[in-house]
Amino acid sequence: MPAPKVTDKRLIRPLPKNVINKIAAGEVVERPASAVKELVENAVDAGAAKIDIIIEKSGAKLIKIVDNGCGIDEDQIEIAFSRHATSKIANFSDLDTLASFGFRGEALPSLASVSRLRMVSRTRDSDSGREIIYEGGVLQSKRPIAAAVGTTVEVADLFFNTPARRKFLKSETTEARYLARVATALAVSNYSLGFNADINGKRLFSFSSGQSLSERVKAVLGEKNKFVPVAGEIDLVRLEGCIGAPDNVRPNRYGQFLFINGRFIASISLSHAWLSGYGELMARGMYPVGALLLTIEPTEVDVNVHPSKTEVRLSREREVYEAVRKLVAESLRQDGIIPTLKTAEAISTSGFKPGESSERPFVRTPSFVPGIGSVKNASPGLIADLYKNVGGDTPISETNRITQVTIDKSTGEVIGKTESSGPSAGFRFIGRFDNLYLIIEAGEALYIVDQHTAHERVLYEQMLEKVEKQAINAQNLLFPVQIELDPEQYAVFEESAALLNNSGFGVSSFGGRMVNVEAMPSIMSKRSTETTFVKVIDDLASLRNAGCDQKKAMAQSIACRSAVMAGDYLSEREATGLLEQLLRCRDKYSCPHGRPTFIRLSRGELDKQFGR
Ligand code: ADP
Ligand code: MG
Repeated sequence: MPAPKVTDKRLIRPLPKNVINKIAAGEVVERPASAVKELVENAVDAGAAKIDIIIEKSGAKLIKIVDNGCGIDEDQIEIAFSRHATSKIANFSDLDTLASFGFRGEALPSLASVSRLRMVSRTRDSDSGREIIYEGGVLQSKRPIAAAVGTTVEVADLFFNTPARRKFLKSETTEARYLARVATALAVSNYSLGFNADINGKRLFSFSSGQSLSERVKAVLGEKNKFVPVAGEIDLVRLEGCIGAPDNVRPNRYGQFLFINGRFIASISLSHAWLSGYGELMARGMYPVGALLLTIEPTEVDVNVHPSKTEVRLSREREVYEAVRKLVAESLRQDGIIPTLKTAEAISTSGFKPGESSERPFVRTPSFVPGIGSVKNASPGLIADLYKNVGGDTPISETNRITQVTIDKSTGEVIGKTESSGPSAGFRFIGRFDNLYLIIEAGEALYIVDQHTAHERVLYEQMLEKVEKQAINAQNLLFPVQIELDPEQYAVFEESAALLNNSGFGVSSFGGRMVNVEAMPSIMSKRSTETTFVKVIDDLASLRNAGCDQKKAMAQSIACRSAVMAGDYLSEREATGLLEQLLRCRDKYSCPHGRPTFIRLSRGELDKQFGR
């Protein structure tokens, strides 16, 4: 059938109200999490002291928000569902002094147009409530009903009439992760309100009303971790917060909650300002956790960038950046910052002096060795793993083949490759620098090996194969450990539970946000179960968000968390064994994160350097 011809004469007519709302819904309600955000913000705007969030099938079936706020008058309830109807602003200039979340008057009509929506609301002055039901934007019924003061909104079958959008939804576990993040952020910024969240039949959190910001942040991110309060004012910025101590860090930004005037925002720039407030206390690649609530004159913030409003425009971004950085730095200084002392110790024991290398942060990966300063020798057991687990079966023997490679310096390409069947005795260990760089003579060249990235590469290639084959050895723990995850980590756990259980972990949910860990991959069994497991979860979250395949992410995380660290002491045999294994890797020049594993210097290159 040929498509209908577009004729020259076109009829211009306004779109039906229904169609307009459906189109707008595409912007306002991207996914179930955005519906939750809009509805909870409405509840907060209505002065609720307690808000319940109930989600079924990650929002595809039901999103229900119950509040005890002011309610809507019965003669107003229908108006609330007409487009651009709002009680929050009357003029455009009101945006300059905006104190509420809402102002567009778009959420209710949009949601009603793409779901089966039921609202029940009652004000204090009225002795009964009112129920209103919409289906695909069309009013179905309106009637009085018995109800408590406040408002309940039930959004059922979201996107039932926009199949494209419904199809676009991610898996239930992934949507649950978005929901957990949004719900948690709302509970943090509105920390004094009571919140309950039940997602897919599970209690995600339950926070009582009247909490302080610190209490709420700790309830979310873990009571056991150390936090530092932040409070202060510089120029146009007032900052209130509760942030992790420098050893309470993560390899991604998911432990961060940033708000401007109560609005949860995503801002790479402000997140960086927060990070830079830690200065050299933060290890490279790590991010602080916690919450920062900025209050900025409404005239300096443009919230009208996008309907979903996680983006804001700041007219004096540079000054806001500086203010955040300074206030964070000051709070950390005031708190005494014990890790500075630890660092000094670490430096003296390792022979590393400040200023010796601008590359190295002074605190070395503090999160890897919690509670034990920063540098330590690896336990003997850990090193033994370099043979036992890494090689799988055979220890490095005299008969292993050595692959000699020559790399073109300018391109990094392999230009010559000869396989010689030689003993590892062909490797001469010259020394180690700072318990991190191994200096080894092999064949015709001198190798400087980064022991962590090198080991990571070796383990990664083995783990990847084993993850594929589900052949990672599990080690049962003598005492199973119960770990409480934060809401978002829990969602990641649920999403990855099957993969974890196929990859040497023995994990199951234990009620609430508790996870029971009964087994760990045996290669990791020497490390602290609790910290290692949580790090794996964090790795999975950040790697997947970076678009990494699930199994690769798993292999990468296990490799990274099992590899010897900077500061671990390797014996001669282990050092040469590591290089030998590295040279047998498929992709030996970099670790899975892309950092180099070794530098090779040939005699010729050295000669050139010395002008011979
Ligand atoms: P906006 O929040 O931008 O004003 P909405 O479409 O979200 O627009 O809501 C329209 C109006 O309905 C609000 O301005 C408010 O007066 C009323 N309203 C919505 N939700 C609630 C609620 N939970 N409690 C009280 N009033 C509400
Ligand atoms: Mg609203």
